[in-house]
Amino acid sequence: MYDFTYTALASRVVFGLDSVKHVEREVELLGASRALVLCTREQTQQAEMVAGLLGRRCAGIHAGAVMHVPIASAREAVAVAARLGADCAVAIGGGSTVGLGKAIALESPLPIIAIPTTYAGSEMTPIYGITENGIKRTGRDSKVLPRTVIYDPRLSRGLPAAMSFVSGINAIAHAAEGLYAQDGNPVMSLMAEEGIRSLASGLRKLRQDPQDLDARGSCLYGAWLCGTVLGQVGMALHHKLCHTLGGSFNLPHAETHAIILPHALAYNAKAAPEAMRRVARALGSDDAAQGMFDLSQELGIAQALSEIGMPADGLDHACATALANPYWNPRPVEAAPLRALLQRAWSGERPAV
Ligand code: NAD
Repeated sequence: MYDFTYTALASRVVFGLDSVKHVEREVELLGASRALVLCTREQTQQAEMVAGLLGRRCAGIHAGAVMHVPIASAREAVAVAARLGADCAVAIGGGSTVGLGKAIALESPLPIIAIPTTYAGSEMTPIYGITENGIKRTGRDSKVLPRTVIYDPRLSRGLPAAMSFVSGINAIAHAAEGLYAQDGNPVMSLMAEEGIRSLASGLRKLRQDPQDLDARGSCLYGAWLCGTVLGQVGMALHHKLCHTLGGSFNLPHAETHAIILPHALAYNAKAAPEAMRRVARALGSDDAAQGMFDLSQELGIAQALSEIGMPADGLDHACATALANPYWNPRPVEAAPLRALLQRAWSGERPAV
């Protein structure tokens, strides 16, 4: 037993097949009567379906969500909400759309309902990100945490299989790092292990049939648990490294996570044996890092940074940038082993034993 502090974050979760039908009731429970529905342009049809369910409680649809929440898009959404007299926002989509909802909540008293359609997990965190002059500023504020989250597996069925796989591994990364977090606690560890188990099994079934609603349900349930872990405890080497790679080389977010995770686990293996045991057990493997590598291989995910646009001559720069801002990690982050990690990840080799 060890000492810990646990602070529960207050959000209500409505989970189940076709649970989106409860959206009007959930708006009403927040004491709201005019909901602005947020989405990306690609998900306008789903937003129209939500608007239809909301009926007279819908103030309008704003299809202005884009990747990384540029400040202009955030300001525009706040202005649209004010113009339409909205008293809450319903964000249907992935992390980008939920991120736009959070940007509105940061600037106004509007409560947010999230209806996630990917496995990113942003809906469970008080973390926001807004991009200004090419730099993504992130912060933590409890007022951006969605008040209600509706998880409906049917709505994630349209997410292409390849995107589902990388999104799922991205979620697993939150839980894996949560298991060795400096401020971890036993409740988060329970959620993390169960989240990894549920996602790994759901993703394997999706490989057979991307339309399998039970598998979609397992993935979404896992994403909820993993997102909760991300919202409550600190992340380490894996997340910092992915942030550096994404920011410096404009690499795709979820794909970068999927490639780095097995290597980050191998790096930390000796320093966090109990976390590794739990990750391995959840994956049904003997070893956390090798098990993660095997899972992404099984899912046919890109395993080399070179495949997703990382230049070979950028590895030294990535290593130096990752070392420039020190942060806590179970094993000290040092130049030589970090450079070796990056090299293996770049060429798609198995993680170091
Ligand atoms: P995304 O929200 O950018 O979505 C990618 C594309 O997929 C969009 O065009 C979207 O409309 C489409 N899409 C989403 N669901 C779909 C579905 N079911 N069917 C068809 N198309 C669908 O991708 P994401 O991976 O969910 O989110 C990534 C972003 O979220 C990143 O910017 C990341 O930084 C952020 N994020 C934030 C947190 C946080 O806690 N703040 C946590 C995780 C991720």
